Amino acid sequence: MADLFVCLSFDYDAASSAIARNMVSPSAISRGDFALTGARRILELLAGQRIPSTWFIPGHTIESYPASAQAVHAAGHEIGNHGWTHRSPASLSPDGEISELASGNLAIEALTGRRPRGYRAPGRELSQHSVDLLMDAGFLYDSSMMGQDYIPYQARAGDRVTLLEPMEFGSDTALVEMPVHWSLDDCPHFEFQHSEAAVLPGLMNARLVVENWIDEFRYMKKHHDWGVLTYTFHPHVIGRGHRMLMLEHMLEVLRGEGAIFLTMEDAVDEYQRKFPAGVSLRGR
Ligand SMILES: [Zn+2]
Repeated sequence: MADLFVCLSFDYDAASSAIARNMVSPSAISRGDFALTGARRILELLAGQRIPSTWFIPGHTIESYPASAQAVHAAGHEIGNHGWTHRSPASLSPDGEISELASGNLAIEALTGRRPRGYRAPGRELSQHSVDLLMDAGFLYDSSMMGQDYIPYQARAGDRVTLLEPMEFGSDTALVEMPVHWSLDDCPHFEFQHSEAAVLPGLMNARLVVENWIDEFRYMKKHHDWGVLTYTFHPHVIGRGHRMLMLEHMLEVLRGEGAIFLTMEDAVDEYQRKFPAGVSLRGR
């Protein structure tokens, strides 16, 4: 019997990601406002299918929309740290990162009564210091990197990376990495964004995208008897009607294919049982 785990993760950015990019017009903020409608629809869908999930919620969202954040917690979903603001760690000083982790944790502890075990970097851009800072802050896992697809691994710290010399790999750490990928994230496929600098077209046909997402699971099923596949959604993106129909369809298909849905912290526990010594990406 294969153990094929699926983690549904929801980055509940609401308006915080626009604000972090200095987009504070009423129109930009309204796109964040829609996240509340999306979150309500997602919670209804997950409750109907009895599926646990993990929500990475910035402190800004928790404190701006406390009733909605409370609804996520009350429904039993895991809540992870996604900063207080939505500024990426790569854009911050080490002190700035420490402050973001601490204030994000405070907001979550006030909501749930416990410290979050997981972290996902806003924009998924960790800094050179992030892995060490996450361990110092007591996190069990990060979910911002893309070094594998179906098998979690130990995050590495202290790589020496220069332009003209081969990589010198740092050491594995106790921090578990729960890998993600842009291809399994709703934002690049669907979110239309425009600025003077660039246009990100998004707005893909949901039925085509879901074929990719289901096939990603089918490949895991064909080639592995143990694995964890993590999808990333944003309530303001996936919450649109036609995409909610797609998400509902995907969950039904995955369940029929044998997927076991669980929170990311529970998936980390499964990983540590399966690989007591940890999985290393060094020396391959
Ligand atoms: Zn985010």
